Amino acid sequence: MPARDHCGVVGVSLQGKGAAPYLFRGLRALQHRGQESSGIATTSHGTLHHRKGLGLVHEIFSQEMLDALRGSTGIGHVRYPTTGSTDLENAQPIVFKLRDEDAALAANGDLVNYERIRRRIQTQGVELLGNADTETIAQAIALEFNHTRDLDSAIRRACPELVGGYAVVLIAGNRIYAFRDPLGIRPLVYGTVDGGVAVASESVALELMGGKLIRDVLPGEVIVLERGQLARTSRIPSSGERAHCMFEWVYFSRPDSIAEGVPIYDVRHRIGLRLAQESPVEADLVVPVPDSARPQALGFAEGSRIPYAEALIKNRFVERTFILPDQKRRESEVRVKLHPVPGLLKGKRVVLLDDSIVRGTTLREIVQMVRGAGATKVDVRIGCPPIRAPCYFGVDMKDRQQLVATGRTEAEVAQAVGADSVHYLSMPGLVQAITLPAENLCLGCLTGKYPVDVPEEHHRFQRSLEEF
Ligand code: 5GP
Ligand code: MG
Repeated sequence: MPARDHCGVVGVSLQGKGAAPYLFRGLRALQHRGQESSGIATTSHGTLHHRKGLGLVHEIFSQEMLDALRGSTGIGHVRYPTTGSTDLENAQPIVFKLRDEDAALAANGDLVNYERIRRRIQTQGVELLGNADTETIAQAIALEFNHTRDLDSAIRRACPELVGGYAVVLIAGNRIYAFRDPLGIRPLVYGTVDGGVAVASESVALELMGGKLIRDVLPGEVIVLERGQLARTSRIPSSGERAHCMFEWVYFSRPDSIAEGVPIYDVRHRIGLRLAQESPVEADLVVPVPDSARPQALGFAEGSRIPYAEALIKNRFVERTFILPDQKRRESEVRVKLHPVPGLLKGKRVVLLDDSIVRGTTLREIVQMVRGAGATKVDVRIGCPPIRAPCYFGVDMKDRQQLVATGRTEAEVAQAVGADSVHYLSMPGLVQAITLPAENLCLGCLTGKYPVDVPEEHHRFQRSLEEF
């Protein structure tokens, strides 16, 4: 099983000052994209320095470590925790060789065909260790580099074979190479920082590094940063189609980021307004499931003219309920994470807003909690259509059996989570809230139709035929 990484990456190129403090700030801005581990690699005078650790960015990097990360060029990574795995082996950036030179690479995303590429790489005598997707990308590029000796063209030649969603930063010598999969599934932006240029998974990281967003790295674009400037750009051969992951706007990105020119906060607010139109309900209070559903709930309150109340308080030190390995612990942790304000919900008809439902565990607990606090009715509105299919491109969505919406109607989901009603945002509602054409979005987890051919889906089809 590959590491399903929904992570964050950053790369900076400065002139005359150290990159490490910038990377540290950028990674802290991307902490929500991964809390398991973090790493930084920099270069100075041709020497690669790298440090990584388990935990949150500010816990890992002491001043001493940052001082050791010398040089004005560097990349960094935060890794999303996946169930049951907390090992430093999987931390990125990974270090590898480009002929005799040390290089490092960090990626956000998943390849759907990495097993096939790994076999091919292994037949060429390359030893592969852990970290399936990231190592596969690095070694595929290294093999091409043996032929071309030119890194730009090695990347352009290796990438068409890498099928999936990925945003990658690579450091070699005093250059950063940043590139994005040809469909632009995973996000990557380019901008200035104080004293140079940078790339990051989200624009908020550029701002925290003292700079600003200039533009998105284009799907399939390879950009090279050198001596504090954008040195050049080129394109991976591709069809020109796009498939941006809708879940970045729904849940994953910070609301203070902008992706493909569309502010995340605005999308979530429009989703709330739209839900109020599509699925109105008589109620006394609109309550968000914090933190991720606040803008949606504000939109719903505005659209429905029902008062908004922060009736559930989140303990900000509990983060990991979603990825806990067993159901029992997830359930009891939800109780530690969220707690109702006494009195606020008593005798009230409540509309509960959440960004998405995956397994339904969190929601079931929350509905119970809201009833326990005295609510007389709990209607749930979800800021995304039903998630019914797995994600193969880097979002931690499990197999179909675990997804509560698979094979269930809204009424059946309501029953499963114990709510009076559950209504999801419609597909047109989602697409219009994001404001990009539907054909430019990846909606695979909603439709089961993926923007690239997914080998695992063939197996599924085959299996179901055999069962039949
Ligand atoms: P469920 O309990 O239905 O499995 O989880 C849904 C909740 O988890 C939603 O409130 C949503 O905010 C959050 N969520 C959705 N996707 C992810 C994810 O990939 N990672 C984490 N940590 N939380 C998620
Ligand atoms: Mg949530």
